[in-house]
Amino acid sequence: MSETMKAYIEEAERDLLHTYNRYQIVLDRGEGVYLYDTDGKKYLDFCAGIAVFALGYGNREYNDALKAQIDKVIHTSNYYYNVPAIEAARKLKKISGMDRVFFTNSGAEAVEGALKAARKYAYLKDGRTDHEIIAMNHSFHGRTFGALSVTGNPKYREAFEPMIGHVKFADLNDFKSVTEQVTDRTCAIILETVQGEGGLVPADGEFLRQVRALCDERDILLILDEIQCGMGRTGYMYAWQKFGVKPDIMTTAKALGCGVPVGAFLMTEKTAAHSLSAGDHGTTYGGNPLACAAVEKVLDLFEKDHIIENVRQVAPYLEQRLEELKGKYDCITELRGAGLMRGLVFDRPVRDIIDRAMEKGLILINAGAEIIRFVPPLVITKEHVDEMIAVLDTCIGR
Ligand SMILES: *Cc1c(COP(=O)(O)O)cnc(C)c1O
Repeated sequence: MSETMKAYIEEAERDLLHTYNRYQIVLDRGEGVYLYDTDGKKYLDFCAGIAVFALGYGNREYNDALKAQIDKVIHTSNYYYNVPAIEAARKLKKISGMDRVFFTNSGAEAVEGALKAARKYAYLKDGRTDHEIIAMNHSFHGRTFGALSVTGNPKYREAFEPMIGHVKFADLNDFKSVTEQVTDRTCAIILETVQGEGGLVPADGEFLRQVRALCDERDILLILDEIQCGMGRTGYMYAWQKFGVKPDIMTTAKALGCGVPVGAFLMTEKTAAHSLSAGDHGTTYGGNPLACAAVEKVLDLFEKDHIIENVRQVAPYLEQRLEELKGKYDCITELRGAGLMRGLVFDRPVRDIIDRAMEKGLILINAGAEIIRFVPPLVITKEHVDEMIAVLDTCIGR
């Protein structure tokens, strides 16, 4: 590492709040599926900014669209209409089959909005203010108070108690555990269609259908958090589309703007008509022209560049190569996930392996201490998979 990079890192450690144990590199620029640090060292990127940069770095059309929007107008507020938001909402409705969109600045904010909408929906029915939400153990929905309250990881919540309250937890793929938590005050069930941070665990189709039927029967809203598993990552625009289990409210973010901070929660018309109305919710930045120009272009490029088709081609190959690796090492106990959202479970912490991979020019991330997570840009090829496996294979050892 150069003295320059060392100095950057020292300054960062002095000035930034220490909320991350960061990997010791300063990233500088990107090109396709490769990143470069400030020393010019090249890395194959299987993190994509945590499942964000789906299109790869330096996409000419995407960059040009953002530059053009910067020269027009970046921000106007939600007191007025703007064309990029209108176009982005139309396209988002088309790919999701949902009816109404609220743009946010992040994933957590999309979850906050979804939870508020669910509470308001129930409030309009019975006027009560003690409605309950059922969430899943090992889930992750974000770091703000509402989102944290439905995050099924006590470690993230403990120091910040009390949470918003009236939240109960059940187990993903255990329908009985869900029914046991339902009361006459349950207003929503929230879950990730594929759990990300919690260990790359997909909800199974039968479980989703049962939860959907339960929600229909009891007029409970189903909120699917597609922030990580959405936007083509599983080979479907949204992971629930594989099962045809449509949510009442859906959250999306991460790859939605491919790096420009933007998220959204979407609803069916029925939910929208009976939940949030004027004055109930707002955001200064949310849905601003710059963010929405990014969304609009991302959605165009997904179609034009056949991103989903690429995921469907490359994902089985990634699965096969990871299976081979698992077969080779006793310390790898399980392969999880779906599409280009995969986890290799080890019987030991994986930080050392990830550090060694970084040394050798491969960026990987973990999900929990013992899982290596693979969430590459969605434009990767089989050759990139081979390149990744070849490096990783030399990092596992013992
Ligand atoms: C990342 C993530 C969030 C939080 O998104 P932020 O943009 O970090 O606030 C919420 N839900 C899921 C499933 C996520 O993966």
